[in-house]
Amino acid sequence: MSVSVNDLTDNELVNLISTHEYDEKLRIRADEVRQSVYGRDVYIRGLIEFTSFCRRNCLYCGLRRENRRERYRLTDEQIFGCCETGYSLGFRTFVLQGGEDAFFDDLHICKIVSGIKERFPDCAVTLSIGEKPRESYLAYKKAGADRYLLRHETADLAHYQKLHPPEMSLKNRMRCLFDLKELGYQTGTGFIVGSPFQTAETIVSDLRFMQKLQPEMIGIGPFIPAGGTPFAGYPAGELSLTLRLISIIRLMFPNALIPSTTALGTIHPKGREMGLAAGANVVMPNLSPTSVRKLYSIYDNKICTGDEAAECRRCLEKRVLAAGYRIVTDCGDIKNTNY
Ligand code: SAH
Ligand code: SF4
Repeated sequence: MSVSVNDLTDNELVNLISTHEYDEKLRIRADEVRQSVYGRDVYIRGLIEFTSFCRRNCLYCGLRRENRRERYRLTDEQIFGCCETGYSLGFRTFVLQGGEDAFFDDLHICKIVSGIKERFPDCAVTLSIGEKPRESYLAYKKAGADRYLLRHETADLAHYQKLHPPEMSLKNRMRCLFDLKELGYQTGTGFIVGSPFQTAETIVSDLRFMQKLQPEMIGIGPFIPAGGTPFAGYPAGELSLTLRLISIIRLMFPNALIPSTTALGTIHPKGREMGLAAGANVVMPNLSPTSVRKLYSIYDNKICTGDEAAECRRCLEKRVLAAGYRIVTDCGDIKNTNY
């Protein structure tokens, strides 16, 4: 393929996406671009899943409020404890992720964020706690939050409405993302690959939306059915399509921070290694206490639910090395070098 993916028309992109086969040439080009910006470095983010309560009802998600599950919240001390363990293992970014849980109001989130920054001033704090008013995002920023992850999920309105209940809107999701960018967050977005009713055309809308937003981070992972949800009977997203999309996204966004997701590791034992080889440069192992890991059941059969943080870190180190890359102890900000 000699043309740059940035020059492709929508139709050409649809064709590129529709070929679900593994494409070694595309992969090699994406890996070259990734290496020209980030070399062989892989950034690690310590994921702390601090609450499984959620007021939302996204149809695909195991944490949706109508799903009768045992729920948990971590205490502030438990969260700081996870960071401490993570810090000693070389993590310099902590990602606080959870459902939209009113128990953690803005003041409380700010207290946790500033508490982490005070204890670990050389670390970045990333939040992934859903849709909030602009004032809340501003307050978290002032408290020290550096980054925010909020996948847009799908940029196609009709598709969005099939994945979400009527009280949720694509317009608000996008408003959140533009607010986050404006407020100076390093902003992450992305979508689920192979969600029910997704087509090559809706994926092109996703790519076009991201070209407008210019996110610093782009997370994509395969859909995995979650028990007790309306989509429990739908098939999982395809490995080959996910890898292909990682490569396309790397070529479109040479500097982006792209995680090789746990969902990818869940649908294939070597999924995360393949994600790195396809152009991803971030991994996000879990730092949550093992006692609650299984309860954060966004989807079924999630990997690593029994491993201690140190074990996860060692295991990933091996996997990353085997894939030909190396984990670095670094905040891992986006590189703005023009490739
Ligand atoms: N509540 C926050 C963060 C937690 S959900 C939010 O929604 O932004 C984190 C991500 O998990 C979601 O953005 C979604 O893309 C992904 N997810 C949810 N259910 C999934 C499923 N069944 N398969 C794969 N990914 C899923
Ligand atoms: Fe809640 Fe996020 Fe799951 Fe939606 S995707 S139900 S907001 S945890």
